[in-house]
Amino acid sequence: MYLCPEPKVLELKGGYYYFTVGEEPKVTSKITPMLSQKESYRLTIDAKGVNIEGADEAGIYYAKLTLRQLLLNHRGCLPYLYIYDEPEYSYRGFMIDSCRHFFTVDEIKKMIDGASLFKFNKFHFHLSDDQGFRVEIESFPELTAVGSVRPSSDFGRGENDKTPYAHYYTKQELKEIVEYCKERFIEVIPEFDVPGHTTAVIASYPELSCTGEKIEPKTTAGIFSDILCVGNPDTIKMIYSVVDELCEIFTGKYFHIGGDEAPKKRWNVCPKCQKKLKELNLKNSEELHGWLVNEISLYLKKKGKKAICWNEAIRGGNVEKDNVTVAWWLDRTKASLEWANGGNPTIIESFTPYYVDYPYGMHSLKNVYLYNPRKIRGLTSLGASSVVGIESPVWTEFIRDFNKLTEKCFPRWLAVADTAWNGNDKKNFNKFLKTVAFFCEILREHGIIAAPESEWNILPHNRLSQTVGFLKNFLSKETVTQFLNKDE
Ligand SMILES: [Zn+2]
Repeated sequence: MYLCPEPKVLELKGGYYYFTVGEEPKVTSKITPMLSQKESYRLTIDAKGVNIEGADEAGIYYAKLTLRQLLLNHRGCLPYLYIYDEPEYSYRGFMIDSCRHFFTVDEIKKMIDGASLFKFNKFHFHLSDDQGFRVEIESFPELTAVGSVRPSSDFGRGENDKTPYAHYYTKQELKEIVEYCKERFIEVIPEFDVPGHTTAVIASYPELSCTGEKIEPKTTAGIFSDILCVGNPDTIKMIYSVVDELCEIFTGKYFHIGGDEAPKKRWNVCPKCQKKLKELNLKNSEELHGWLVNEISLYLKKKGKKAICWNEAIRGGNVEKDNVTVAWWLDRTKASLEWANGGNPTIIESFTPYYVDYPYGMHSLKNVYLYNPRKIRGLTSLGASSVVGIESPVWTEFIRDFNKLTEKCFPRWLAVADTAWNGNDKKNFNKFLKTVAFFCEILREHGIIAAPESEWNILPHNRLSQTVGFLKNFLSKETVTQFLNKDE
């Protein structure tokens, strides 16, 4: 029997409950106070049919998902069994970048279908970046009029495209996605990435950068110096307006405010930023970044929300711990270790191996499956217990179409889902491989083409060529140097 993630407790009782093929089995369900752990459930199958007890509505939903997987294994009958199940992590996330390349509402829904089958419950939607701003914002219409259009695309590999690339989601479309996720007990977390990765914002409103110079949305991958000027009060007003409008669409608890890859080159010499820094009695631009995080997270808190930021944003050491959850993607930075070891909420999305836009030769299925987010070197036991969840992002600089997107994510997202739900105590890779093969067939029937089995765990000599091929995309730019230098 193939189940992913595997339930915590599964006891086969011998015998089968039969029902007519093509018809649904008889199911009864109720919420019970006997189950205290959020999202947990009990599922029993006996001669009377299927009985579900959930700690909450989500628990009942997950029991039904398990039942759906059981039905994929059996036709017209179900084995008598008892299942008790609860998730290891409350935050089980996947992230899609629709900025570098855009995916339609239908494509996004298909990805949600694929992820939800494996009990993910957070969809982090990366909606703003240097290469495109992808949400309609009524109070700042240029964000889409200008910011959603890049003049061409040059992401390497000879796939240069000289035509303008123009896409964004309307509010109605995003509400539709939020509703679609809600039915699947998935919270959609929008990311408005500030102060870096904001070329598209600055292209729309040049007066919000430190130099005020007119620039265009970027056509290449990279980390760029032009970031929002925090010494300009209009910048803060713009951020709050965008947050306000996004909060009307995205009604969940979390809001991602980015904060990654924000070089402080401009802030260090900008009179407005330096004036602000002195006014606030801060020591350096990293502290100024921390101040910005505090301002926005407090603004979100007043709306009943909790901010998430990438781990570079806490380098100043002055980020208010109560209002922020840190998304840890860079390996073992000093600030991130102190944050987690201080007992502060942390989501692990280590780029090795959870960034699934990297080739399988670099991040193999086995590496993703066996990675233990609580065993990062330097994490204390308090640090490990501060890990509220894990997330696997897919960045799309080098992913132009839907089939490429699905191949990158599947089956590696099954490995992430298994850890997110089960932790790392019961890992059995050979068994998992069979489960993966089974579900890749199911996914295919739903229009999601997973990577072929030959890719999942690549032999060492091919690994090297894939790694070199992937890194070559960056080598012509400053990106690699910046990337390698920014770890503390
Ligand atoms: Zn400035």
